[in-house]
Amino acid sequence: MHIGIPKETRDGETRVAATPETVKKYLGGKHTVVVERGAGDAARYPDDAYEAAGATLGSTQDALGAELVLKVRAPSPTELPQMKSGAVVIGMLDPFDAQGIEQMAAAGLTGFALEAAPRITRAQSLDVLSSQANLAGYKAVLLAAHHYGRLIPMMMTAAGTLKAARAVVLGTGVAGLQAIATAKRLGAVVEASDVRPAAREQVESLGAKFIDVPFETDEEREIAEGKGGYARAMPPGWMARQAALVSERCKQADIVITTALIPGRPAPTLVSADTVAAMRPGSVLVDLAVERGGNCPLSEKGQIVEKHGVTIIGLTNLPGLVATDASALYARNVMDFLKLIINADGALAIQRDDEIVAACLVCEGGNVARRT
Ligand code: NAD
Repeated sequence: MHIGIPKETRDGETRVAATPETVKKYLGGKHTVVVERGAGDAARYPDDAYEAAGATLGSTQDALGAELVLKVRAPSPTELPQMKSGAVVIGMLDPFDAQGIEQMAAAGLTGFALEAAPRITRAQSLDVLSSQANLAGYKAVLLAAHHYGRLIPMMMTAAGTLKAARAVVLGTGVAGLQAIATAKRLGAVVEASDVRPAAREQVESLGAKFIDVPFETDEEREIAEGKGGYARAMPPGWMARQAALVSERCKQADIVITTALIPGRPAPTLVSADTVAAMRPGSVLVDLAVERGGNCPLSEKGQIVEKHGVTIIGLTNLPGLVATDASALYARNVMDFLKLIINADGALAIQRDDEIVAACLVCEGGNVARRT
């Protein structure tokens, strides 16, 4: 197939959907590859590295006009008209953005949104949510450490002892667990909360303390178990008990990292404005859920702000701050997904009965794919 790698155009997007490493593998698999000039610049993959891997360099139009287009973000309204009807596009296409998917369908594209892949063992190597959330969790702690005006580890020096920083991590999926591990490595004392009962063991295995919000009814427990590993919205009673406990823990904390998400819904509020007002001056909150409304109402999307003496970091694309590694992992995720829609001869052969393929397909033949 003829594969196009355009330069990402969304504001602040530094990642690229293919690296020289994956391009080389595509070329060994009976494909041709055109990379838009400068596509990898922001991720530190220069044009000559793609050329050395065997790709052709081209214009925006050349890359977007390919029969298979590999993207990080969904095509924008300016990119869509440059794509060919019938082409296949793969990326983080935001499967819950109904309008965006309709526009791709109207452009005649076959779209695969990799975020929609099921959380099953076979899908791990193409799981973009995991590969990117892991980096976001790591970077969130480093950002917090940078903005926190004090040290993280306990230090015993001849001039006296400094206490270890206290970190609270709310939401312990992929990003939260990496945040715990990173904060522990830096020497923080860490506590964490999640709705899913299974999270306790994972939190404790990393050496952090689990903030226990007991279930008062069977219904609460059943909702908390979630579906497919994902959390569901908890009843107001449980949320109120969690808020009270979280508020107490945040008041003692120096660093708070929030990552709580519920698929297809706004992020739950976990740290209220009152809680922020009661936090220690100089403490730092990183809200990784800000793109979905945030876990704290005082977070501002894309901004670093100070409220009540607390630095609140609402940057939206943390993996983009480590674009070289984020692109390397993302590009391998994409390459793994392609194995499900391309046959050994290098031709398009979409395995529609494959549950990963079926889950990721968002539009085809002018229509929006039916979501289950
Ligand atoms: P996510 O990004 O959707 O959400 C982040 C975390 O927020 C989740 O752990 C969720 O339970 C939690 N959360 C939601 N509401 C909350 C609340 N009110 N309070 C506290 N926490 C709350 O999660 P994710 O990182 O995408 O992981 C989702 C699930 O998928 C996890 O169970 C994870 O272990 C699992 N997973 C499985 C695989 C696999 O088997 N292939 C790969 C990756 C992740």
